[in-house]
Amino acid sequence: MARYRDSVCRLCRRENMKLFLKGDRCYSDKCAFDRRGYPPGQHGQRRRGKISDYGVQLREKQKVKRIYGLSEKQFHLFFERSDQKKGITGTNLLVSLERRLDNVVYRLGFVNSRTQGRHFVRHGHFLVNGKKVDIPSYLVDISDVVEVREKSRNILAITDAVEAVVRRGVPPWLELEKDQLRGGVKAFPAREDLTMPMQEQLIVELYSK
Ligand code: SF4
Repeated sequence: MARYRDSVCRLCRRENMKLFLKGDRCYSDKCAFDRRGYPPGQHGQRRRGKISDYGVQLREKQKVKRIYGLSEKQFHLFFERSDQKKGITGTNLLVSLERRLDNVVYRLGFVNSRTQGRHFVRHGHFLVNGKKVDIPSYLVDISDVVEVREKSRNILAITDAVEAVVRRGVPPWLELEKDQLRGGVKAFPAREDLTMPMQEQLIVELYSK
């Protein structure tokens, strides 16, 4: 799978909004988007021309894909599965993305970013219902309990991230027991729980062409 290796801050600048991909740095005055809020590259400071409907849909898809750090293939697979489920495809898509384990450990504050969440999940630092799960795309269910493994509890990146979660806050569909480094899934996320500006209908329109 092709991996993006350039600076992730360029992605925020490309999408013209903060995607919060770098943990603490995103909240500091070192944020590249706050400093240079125009697209990257030689012609980034030129006036943006009119963008077609297709372009708007494409940018929205790219933005959401980048927020969750997925490849095109992974993202499209999530879309196809969401389309096959009952209900509104766009909402299904966002809810599935939120239920990914790498996102849940980020939301609970065990890591600083989804990228770090993905690495730490792969390295087996978390248990789900008492069992090690090292698959970042694992989808949590209602009543699942996610916790930091006993032998990973002293990892500085994890203890620092938990202290910093106060700034981000834990979403209402999750419950954090900070001292136990444990969190529970109270419900599936509702659309209104997702506060980043995302227009999922544009993604549905793009993939429906
Ligand atoms: Fe985006 Fe964070 Fe970089 Fe700012 S610091 S540009 S929010 S990734």
